[in-house]
Amino acid sequence: MTLPSNAQLDLQLAARDLAQAEILPAAAQTDKTEQYPWDNVEKLTQAGFMGMTIPKEYGGRGLSYYDAVLVIEEMAKVCGVTGRIVVEANMGAIGAVMKYGSNTQKELAAKHVLAGDKPAICITEPNAGSAATEMTTTATKKDGRYVINGKKHWITGGGVSKMHLIFARVMENGVSQGIAGFLAVRDETEGLIIGKREPAMGLRGIPETEVIFENMEVDEGMAVIPPEGLKRGFAGLMTAYNGQRIGAATVALGIGQGSYEVALDYAKSRHQFGRPIAEFQGLQWKLADMSIGLEASRALIHNAAAGAGDGFPDMRAAAQAKVMASETAIKVTNEALQIHGAMGYSRNLPLERMARDARMFTIGGGTAEILRTQIAGSILGMKTPQNRDGYVNYSREAAE
Ligand code: FAD
Repeated sequence: MTLPSNAQLDLQLAARDLAQAEILPAAAQTDKTEQYPWDNVEKLTQAGFMGMTIPKEYGGRGLSYYDAVLVIEEMAKVCGVTGRIVVEANMGAIGAVMKYGSNTQKELAAKHVLAGDKPAICITEPNAGSAATEMTTTATKKDGRYVINGKKHWITGGGVSKMHLIFARVMENGVSQGIAGFLAVRDETEGLIIGKREPAMGLRGIPETEVIFENMEVDEGMAVIPPEGLKRGFAGLMTAYNGQRIGAATVALGIGQGSYEVALDYAKSRHQFGRPIAEFQGLQWKLADMSIGLEASRALIHNAAAGAGDGFPDMRAAAQAKVMASETAIKVTNEALQIHGAMGYSRNLPLERMARDARMFTIGGGTAEILRTQIAGSILGMKTPQNRDGYVNYSREAAE
């Protein structure tokens, strides 16, 4: 069991104070207006929560993923959107750049994130979701630059994020060389176009949009290629993405925990049949199950985050934590709503928002089904190709 140090408890407390005093009061409004909470971003920036995992030599605080998850849970308890902003300002794209990037790339990314930018990570395409390696966005080298063409969708922060880490297939003479990441800054890079916004169910304060690349040119120095090289580029970039998965799991945990705490209070204060409803065993067992799921999720998340050291969380540990936390959050937010009866169904209380916000975490960043397949592959020590001829090709490769 991983336990936080005194310094980490202080960090958690600072995050809790900010979340309760400044983030909570604006959460319902952020959901209602569907506007990106720039005021929250300003407060997070001032508090040093944007880019806290950036190494000190690049101006950050050099904090760990474990530190970051303590902050993320506090934000997500009161506002899922703000929790997600903290994830993307400390993990995912920024984690990949800080690990694999050149000095120039690190300085560029740090400058934006420390000033309050939440980078966008652009992987998913209309015809390449779970099968992400089937992406068709291409990067073709021309006179020391890459020309990028293609279309991504469901990109969190489309239209508000400045930095973009774009996954694209590197082409040479019409032949794919592998997948790399490319850094581009919105409004400074011609051909980076923000497309239509999705009318999402929850987490409405962050836009989910298409991002389109039309002959978008970036300097060749903006390619982020993991040390394993281009052929294993996607795998390397996805190793960095395990950090983001821990972050997403923590937002789910925070939303669940927030709804559980509200339900716990309500169960003690609401009376029916002349007694507090908390005296009914039917509700006691719900609360007990909610607490079990949340504690188990927290333990898996903390374990995976602490195990990262100064690298990335382990793939299996990150996937296990995300499956557990995302499925728990859906159950817990729905039970919390149920414990409130009709009041839970009203938009005057946060329960219906929390249930909508929690719903996404078994989908975004790797579905629960795909993550289970990854976990199975890891525990069985087997490759688990999902395309029809995958096993045939795999055994052919092994035989050769
Ligand atoms: P599909 O791949 O079409 O899957 C449909 C269903 O089939 C799912 O239930 C899936 O689990 C199941 N399925 C597919 N293949 C298998 C299989 N082999 N075995 C078992 N079941 C399978 N993407 C980004 O790149 N950047 C972002 O910032 C980003 N943000 C997002 C934010 C939100 C709110 C959401 C909802 C999505 C976001 N995504 C983002 C996209 C997300 O990563 C994809 O939605 C996800 O990878 C699944 O792809 P898909 O939606 O195309 O579903």
